[in-house]
Amino acid sequence: MPTENDNSALDNLNFDNRFVRELPGDPEPDNFRRQVYFACYSWALPTPAKQPQVLAYSQEVADDLGLSAETCESEDFARVFAGSRLAKGMEAYALCYGGHQFGHWAGQLGDGRAINLGEVVNSRNQRYTLQLKGAGLTPYSRSADGLAVLRSSVREFLCSEAMHHLGVPTTRALSVTLTGQQVVRDMFYDGNPQREAGAVVCRVAQSFTRFGSFQIFTARDDLDSLKKLVDYTIRTDFPELGEPSIPVYLNWFKEVCRKTAEMVVHWQRVGFVHGVMNTDNMSILGLTIDYGPYGWLENYDPDWTPNTTDAQGRRYRFGNQAKIAYWNLVQLANALYPLIMRAESLQQALLAFTETFDAGWQAMMAAKLGLIGFEPSEDEALVNELTQLLQTAETDMTLFYRQLADIDVSTGADSLAQFLAMLQQTSYEPLTDDGIEQATRWFEAYCLRSQRDSRLPLERRAAMNAVNPRYVLRNYLAQLAIDQAEQGDFALVRELLEVLRNPYAEQPDKESFAAKRPDWAKQRAGCSMLSCSS
Ligand code: AMP
Ligand code: MG
Repeated sequence: MPTENDNSALDNLNFDNRFVRELPGDPEPDNFRRQVYFACYSWALPTPAKQPQVLAYSQEVADDLGLSAETCESEDFARVFAGSRLAKGMEAYALCYGGHQFGHWAGQLGDGRAINLGEVVNSRNQRYTLQLKGAGLTPYSRSADGLAVLRSSVREFLCSEAMHHLGVPTTRALSVTLTGQQVVRDMFYDGNPQREAGAVVCRVAQSFTRFGSFQIFTARDDLDSLKKLVDYTIRTDFPELGEPSIPVYLNWFKEVCRKTAEMVVHWQRVGFVHGVMNTDNMSILGLTIDYGPYGWLENYDPDWTPNTTDAQGRRYRFGNQAKIAYWNLVQLANALYPLIMRAESLQQALLAFTETFDAGWQAMMAAKLGLIGFEPSEDEALVNELTQLLQTAETDMTLFYRQLADIDVSTGADSLAQFLAMLQQTSYEPLTDDGIEQATRWFEAYCLRSQRDSRLPLERRAAMNAVNPRYVLRNYLAQLAIDQAEQGDFALVRELLEVLRNPYAEQPDKESFAAKRPDWAKQRAGCSMLSCSS
């Protein structure tokens, strides 16, 4: 692909493509589907888009890369980030990885529709890999087309940025661009394929290495490549751990356990359900990655999964995410075993997950409730009773915790009435007599417990509002933005992006974005149920 227009700011980005320079690559230069051995990546050029049009971009990610608004609004930006032109310094490649899908080893997966463009080092010496998702076929595309549609691309773009602003570790998104090409998808897998608008998201992360990137080498008994990738990852992304050695491998694995646990605690805090926690969708940096059929809890329900493919077993339901993260880490430990050969030490290192998750979860729940710390003897029951209450009343999780901060916990009857009214107002079902009784008991216990902390009301409120968001990417809001974008109107995508930049702030003119799910959205596809078709 020619590099033209040397005047573009994009040609002045500082690329240092260490991954392809230092790791073993696939010697085959041609782009056809195949099994790729002894390599971390294959060369794969993006398919040029017919008519690139930027739908939205993230100001913060652009800033991190040193790109001005003028550059982001230029035609050249649209061309580069739709895959029509490689800027100077870009090298295009797809990653080789495997993974366990829904608990079963699936063999080689790889970047079937993601094409990396290289690593930008910014003026602060921070390293960012740029990656186009939906830019065409790669050697890893298997039987699929390498493309992505507008709806899933808008969902990935908005959610990556929303999660970042919520303080959840995540891959980022620079832009979402229409390609001008139609893509055929059978959204419900029911024999009704439709033509949809094609789009490309430019994702940005320190690294896109996944658990499955290591697993593929062990599965193929390619320990040489396994060691190269492990050593590279430690030197590049975990340099503080020191030069690779067996003790450093163990410390590194422990660190991955910790980071993964912290990520899941954040998911539980904000009510995010990933939906496809396969090991190929687990970042080695503990970043939320691969936004597919994810969803946000509306009515609190630990059994909820947004993914229709997972409706039967509910493996990836909200309340199971920590268990699955641990299961995935066990698969990673198995993949690392041949390098370490110490089963007990790996077992020991896995405890870092449980310890970090348990401590993190307790601190997080205490913070959500406005308590200074978690006192297991008492607070365990307080939290269990509350989650039962929220589940029975079908209470909106986000609204409930946010509004709990406004309720005075120091007085008696008035605040109880206020609490019950709030609970009713944030619930999707009317409270029953039993529910009211349960709620009263809980609130009385909660007031007594809160009073022991002697927190000033303003201080309690501010602390709670810093962890309980006012705005999340409600499933129906994303769908409304998609409906409009499919009609060629991108205003709502941009407005949502803007609102979600400050999820903890009150935004009086944006109240409607914090509203309860409307009735029409309860059963609508895209709002309550999502397929993997994207
Ligand atoms: P996911 O469920 O999105 O994590 O995808 C699982 C695997 O399927 C990954 O290897 C993806 O790259 C691949 N894949 C998903 N959709 C497509 C597509 N439209 N074209 C090519 N590969 C795809
Ligand atoms: Mg994936």
